[in-house]
Amino acid sequence: MSQVQRMSRLMAKTLRDNPADAETLSHQLLVRAGYVRRTSAGIWSWLPLGKKVLDNISRVVREEMDAIGAQEVLLPALLPREPYDASGRWDEYGDLLFRLKDRKGADYLLGPTHEEIFTQVVKDQCTSYKDLPVMLYQIQTKYRDEARPRSGVLRGREFQMKDSYSFDTTDEGLAESYALHREAYRKIFARLGLDYRIVSAVSGAMGGSASEEFLAPAAAGEDTFVDCPNCDYAANTEAVTFAAPAPGTTEHGPVEELDTPDTPTIETLAEHLGVPASATLKNLLVKVDGEIVAVGVPGDREVDLGKLGEHLAPAVVELVSAEDFEDRPDLVRGYVGPQGLKIRYIADPRVAPGTAWITGANKPDTHARNVVCGRDFEVDDYLDVVVVEEGDPCPVCGTGLKLDRAIEIGHIFQLGRKYADTFQLDVLGQQGKPVRVTMGSYGIGVSRAVAALAEQTADEQGLCWPQEIAPADVHVVAAGKALQTELALEISDQLAAAGLRVLVDERQGVSPGVKFTDAELIGVPHIVVAGRRAGEGVVELKDRRTGEREELPVAEVVSRLTTR
Ligand code: ATP
Ligand code: MG
Repeated sequence: MSQVQRMSRLMAKTLRDNPADAETLSHQLLVRAGYVRRTSAGIWSWLPLGKKVLDNISRVVREEMDAIGAQEVLLPALLPREPYDASGRWDEYGDLLFRLKDRKGADYLLGPTHEEIFTQVVKDQCTSYKDLPVMLYQIQTKYRDEARPRSGVLRGREFQMKDSYSFDTTDEGLAESYALHREAYRKIFARLGLDYRIVSAVSGAMGGSASEEFLAPAAAGEDTFVDCPNCDYAANTEAVTFAAPAPGTTEHGPVEELDTPDTPTIETLAEHLGVPASATLKNLLVKVDGEIVAVGVPGDREVDLGKLGEHLAPAVVELVSAEDFEDRPDLVRGYVGPQGLKIRYIADPRVAPGTAWITGANKPDTHARNVVCGRDFEVDDYLDVVVVEEGDPCPVCGTGLKLDRAIEIGHIFQLGRKYADTFQLDVLGQQGKPVRVTMGSYGIGVSRAVAALAEQTADEQGLCWPQEIAPADVHVVAAGKALQTELALEISDQLAAAGLRVLVDERQGVSPGVKFTDAELIGVPHIVVAGRRAGEGVVELKDRRTGEREELPVAEVVSRLTTR
């Protein structure tokens, strides 16, 4: 028999007003409904209701991971520096990593993700090809000193992640482990009731090749992705690469200088000349590992510094500052053009050979017209670096792309041999020779999924959980009179006896209005009210999601809820 949780005993103080610092709906509602409490910036305490939801999500994740044959382990969060030095990530992580020292002065970190440690565990435990393939996972606390931890549990500095790792001897084996994870993720997110899309991603600091993200579309999301309305194509905007446009013609007049005073921006220039911004070439100066580089894009487009960083990684990309111009008379701020420039020139593929542009003349207050790519300047590297915009052509079918915001809830990577190389992870192969192992790494934001689900399912009244994830199956409300309370408790016992998880609001001295508001806010899928007709043994059954209500005799409510 399931337990009946009495609201009078539940530690969940509901709030009528949104916390001042809460920007996203899930942040507001999870705090107001008493699910979580902020302990410090990006650090959260899970209160009884929140812990139940978190556990329910973990259970679904665990069941589906077990179903593909992954084995659960638990590794420490407090980790020694050495393995992260070996992989280079002690430095590469920069400010994101929590670093600390023990009493002897030795360096430690709080694990942001565990590729290094899993590789070491497997090197120790698996010595023969017969020991592989192996898939390991944990549901564990991760630490990242995020720059903007402002969306509640959506982006914590301490958070729960399911991370798993696969170890295979062949590329085919890795592809299979990856496919198993992909399928398990689809089942997990479907069971969680999350609306999600699988999109191609960039592999980032992880290294490796194939990588896909599971994105939950939501206004509060910090990721943007493109979706083709015509074909299957979907990708994180950072991963979109466009085919190079066809080269332009070379029939252009000679370069002509234009007197353009006070036009240091594209807007001022386009207005001064009466041309569209797209006719101009914008040259952004950035520092790549300290060296100044120019990046050329059509004047109506923006440079995506994230994408540029991904292309040039592990080089560090920074914006230039005023000091960088001090001893550089060749770089005329606001009037830079690629012609005659002595620095590396990176350009968007739209700056194709044969295209002509209005661009800076490398002289103050002067621009130049008919500056032709391939004739007047050369591009050192073509990189896809513009911010993707709504309506850009789909790289597969050419249809105008749709742009949407989403929350990244999962990420799967084919890492390959990067970490196996670092730690010389070999097993003895069938032929008696050592074989280098190939790896995959797969994450799910378990605590983030709580917020993502809240974002997608909540309405004006509050949270609204799918049944498998909800902190209870039924929320029974006793309107207030002794008879109503008696009936509410009786139904609760019957529902619990039938195996349902019941929350009963039998609080004395709390108005029915407050109880109804709290029930809507807490978001359990079925609400039963013992009210006006309690004397006849009739209660109201309300569906939290649809708002549909009907009056039913008690026995019928119990059978209705237990035969779903
Ligand atoms: P993001 O781009 O949102 O910072 P990430 O790419 O750094 O995420 P991964 O390293 O792939 O994330 O981590 C695996 C999963 O862990 C992510 O898909 C996400 O769901 C979750 N996650 C990552 N960072 C956080 C965080 N700060 N708070 C909560 N969940 C997180
Ligand atoms: Mg990621």
